[in-house]
Amino acid sequence: MKNFFPINYRVDATNTIQHYFHVKCQFTSKQKETILRMPNWTPGSYMIREYSRFLHGFKTENSWSQTDLAEWTVLGEGQIEIEYLIYAFEDLTVRTNYLDSEFGLITPAALFLQVITDEDIKISIEWKLPQNRQVFSPLKNKNDDLSNFVTDYDLLYDSPFFITDQEPISLNTENCTHEILIQSDIEDSLKKKLCDDLKVIVEFQAKILGGYPNEYYLFILIFTEGGYGGLEHNACSVNIFDASKLKDRNEYLKLLELLCHEYFHLWNVKRIRPKALGPFDYSKPNLTKELWIAEGITSFYDAYFLLQAGFLTIEEYLAKIYQDINLLEDNSGEEWMSLEESSFTAWTKYYKRTSDSHNTGISYYTKGGVLVLCMQIRIIAETNGKKSFIDIMKKLYQDFYLKQNRGFTKQEFFQIASEVTGLNLLDEFNIYLTQNVRIPVLEYLAKLGISPKLENPINELGFTCRESNRGLFVNKIFHKKIDPLAEIYLADEILAIDDFRITSNSQMQSVLDTKKENSYIKILIARKSKLKNINLKLGISYKDRSLVFTDKESKEVNPYWDLFHKVHSR
Ligand SMILES: [Zn+2]
Repeated sequence: MKNFFPINYRVDATNTIQHYFHVKCQFTSKQKETILRMPNWTPGSYMIREYSRFLHGFKTENSWSQTDLAEWTVLGEGQIEIEYLIYAFEDLTVRTNYLDSEFGLITPAALFLQVITDEDIKISIEWKLPQNRQVFSPLKNKNDDLSNFVTDYDLLYDSPFFITDQEPISLNTENCTHEILIQSDIEDSLKKKLCDDLKVIVEFQAKILGGYPNEYYLFILIFTEGGYGGLEHNACSVNIFDASKLKDRNEYLKLLELLCHEYFHLWNVKRIRPKALGPFDYSKPNLTKELWIAEGITSFYDAYFLLQAGFLTIEEYLAKIYQDINLLEDNSGEEWMSLEESSFTAWTKYYKRTSDSHNTGISYYTKGGVLVLCMQIRIIAETNGKKSFIDIMKKLYQDFYLKQNRGFTKQEFFQIASEVTGLNLLDEFNIYLTQNVRIPVLEYLAKLGISPKLENPINELGFTCRESNRGLFVNKIFHKKIDPLAEIYLADEILAIDDFRITSNSQMQSVLDTKKENSYIKILIARKSKLKNINLKLGISYKDRSLVFTDKESKEVNPYWDLFHKVHSR
């Protein structure tokens, strides 16, 4: 029998007033010194977050010293106990710790110091909870009490804990238990509708992908004002949304899309994954050019599944993809950054956006999703619907996860794609991965009988403004749209256009509506306590933009649309 190195953590979550988790860690050291490290980031969120900044009051009876920003060295052999506090009220997000009198969320990479050892470890966790609270975790199901046993830090750091007085709701799925914890006082009828819809989404995905990869899955859903976000884990997802928006159909669909997206990660990323995405070194960024696979494919499927499962109407689906297409089309980022660069630099660029990011960069979510849309159209058209992109995913799952339990390289991805579809997707699409080239997505959509419809032209400034009590200030400049000779800066205060006083965005638009196409206007601005007149040539944009079927009948007669639309519902 294997000899395990036991590590025990005791987490006290009762200090809900000052928001500190009190953690004790015990182990028996066979070495003269033991190193403990706090991760700098958490899987799925590609940014150095320096979680050690939330750690305070490190202490132990043994001699010790802090040997790096996120590293402590403890001297001595035998029984060692260390303790520390973790501040958990900086932000309520899916990737940080949070603790108040209502609930607690633990992002394990931001709470548990990693004991560095070469031995096979066995981690147990004990809890001290506020009254009437329980702790839930995707680990709990394996050992149905409060001490969870884990044998590696990768799994621990990928298994969040949620402390709440809410009871989990079962989705009543067969072959894999799905539960959802909803932290909010939303009406029971809404909870029920959400659970019913989620069950459809879960079962739909499992059917398409050939069954569940696990026995248990936990959705954690926290409703908070203005909140939005999701993070995937090995057998769980943490999701944040604003409950006050749920009455609006589009917002409710946005929540379903979020949950659908995070759930698809159960396969894509957590099991079907590019090589760099696990196991991890938590001290530094794990760089990969393949986040378009992780997030682009998932972004394509979140809305596509909702269409196929009947949640989105065709018009709603087309509006969603057109929004992404326009995000690329309206900005110059595609001319500055390739998809692979967007992925590789996620740590310093996508996650640390500046006021200029839309001009010089792209999102691997958006462009990745649009790329996969084009690939899907290509595969369906060339194979007459006999194959679709999901067949590539299923084969990757079989060959790399089930047979070898490893990630794949870009070459292996395209090798499988070509085996499955008979098409050389690398030849056709590599240029959009490696070079700063726009994807001709409208040409692909034309195959489905779909084209853009632009209506109601309006005069375009090429920048937008934020309204405040103090005035109207430039908050975003679009290099692709603005007159390149117009010297408008971010934070300029707009005072007048052609001597007409402007105080709001709507007023500005009314003035612009009176101008001739492509005419010059004079903008009076205030900058650094001085007034200045700026000449700007107006551009044109369209108030209403939509994707429509080119011919009235093409929805019915275009064979590719029919295949694209129903590929998973048949
Ligand atoms: Zn994602």
